[in-house]
Amino acid sequence: MRLEPLPPGSTIGIFGGGQLGRFLAMAASKLGLRTAIYSPEDDSPAFQVATQRWQSSYGDEDAVESFAKACDVVTFEFENVPATALQIAARHVSVRPAARAAEIAQDRILEKRFLSELGLPTASYFAIDSKDGLLAAASHLDKAGTGILKIAREGYDGKGQAHVSSEAELLAAFLKFAAPCVLEGLVRFSMEISVIAVRSAGGEVFFYDSPENSHAAGILRKSAVPASCSGRKQALAQEMTARIAAALDYCGVMGVEFFVMPEGSAEPLLVNEIAPRVHNSGHWTMEACAISQFENHIRAIAGWPLGSVARHSDAIMTNLIGEEVLDWRPIIEKDPGASLYLYGKNAIREGRKLGHVTQISPRQKNEDNPHPA
Ligand code: AMP
Repeated sequence: MRLEPLPPGSTIGIFGGGQLGRFLAMAASKLGLRTAIYSPEDDSPAFQVATQRWQSSYGDEDAVESFAKACDVVTFEFENVPATALQIAARHVSVRPAARAAEIAQDRILEKRFLSELGLPTASYFAIDSKDGLLAAASHLDKAGTGILKIAREGYDGKGQAHVSSEAELLAAFLKFAAPCVLEGLVRFSMEISVIAVRSAGGEVFFYDSPENSHAAGILRKSAVPASCSGRKQALAQEMTARIAAALDYCGVMGVEFFVMPEGSAEPLLVNEIAPRVHNSGHWTMEACAISQFENHIRAIAGWPLGSVARHSDAIMTNLIGEEVLDWRPIIEKDPGASLYLYGKNAIREGRKLGHVTQISPRQKNEDNPHPA
C-alpha cells in the first residue's frame, strides 16, 4: 500500500460522480494529478472531466477491487457509498477519509450517538426502528406536537424528511418511509452556519471562515461569508469540528452543519449534520480563498502540505436548482464578475442542484469580529 506524499502524475480515485467529484477532479488536474471516478451512472458529471471512468455498481466487488488497484489513494464525494465498497478498496490502497467516517454519516442514528458520545449537543432525537416504537416516539413530540421525522439512511437535500405536527402525521410519515427513522425536535435556531475544515493525515487542521447558510425545503440555497454570527460562536463551532475530526482520525475536508441558537438558549450551538467530504456550503472558497476546499482535500489525501484557507473576499454562493439553471445567461449578463458553474447534468428536475454562481466583493475591513458576542 502506497504511503504519502504522492508524486504528481499519481491517480486519485473518487467514489461518486456528482458535482463534488467533478470539482475534486478539476482541482487534482491543476496539481498534475490524475483522477479515476467510480460511479454507477453513465451520465455522471465527474466523468466529463476525469482521466478514467469506472462505471459500475458499488456492489460489484470485482470492479471495486480493480478500481482500488488502479489508484494511489481513494476518496469519496458522497457519504452514501456503501461501507463495504470502501472497506474492499481499503485492502488495496489508502482510503481517505477512512470508511468509518462514511459509516457514521450515512446513518442518522449512528451519527447522533457518535455526537452524543463526544458530548456535542444536537437536536433532541428519538430513534424509531419499528411501528412499535412510534408510541414512545410520539411522547417526544414537543408541546406543540411538532417534530421532523427523518429517514435514518439515504436521505439528502430534504429527501426523506417530513415535518409532522400530530401523532397521526407521525404515523403516516413513518409508514411512508417504511424504514428506520429518527424523530427530531423542531429547532428554533436563529441561523445556520457550517464549518469547512481540512485535516492532514498528520492531524494538522485548518478552518475556512464559516458561511451562513439558508435553506428552502431542506435544500441549501445560499451560503454567505462573512456570517452574521459572533466570532465566539464561530470559534466554538470550529472547536467542535476539530473534536469530531480528531475522533475519526480524519484526513481531508469535512463539513459540519450547525444550528446557531438564540441568545439565552441552553446551548449556543447544536450540531446538525456531519458531511465527511467537501461541502456545498464551501463552494465559495474557489473564488474567495487562496486555496479552495477542493484543492485542500486533494492536498490532504495526497499527503501534500495543506494550503492557506485565508479568505481575501466576501462572497455569496447561490445554488441553481431545477429550472433556475435555465437563467444562467441573464445571470452572467447582469453581473460579468459572477462566477458561474454548470454541472453538465442533462435532466432538469425539481430540487436537483444543476449549477451555482458565486459573487465576490472586496473583503470588509474591520470585520474580524463584526458581531462580537
Ligand atoms: P438536514 O438534511 O438534516 O441537514 O436538513 C436540511 C435542513 O432542514 C437543515 O439545514 C435545516 O434548515 C432544516 N432542519 C433539519 N433538521 C431540523 C430540525 N431538527 N429543526 C429545524 N430545522 C431542521
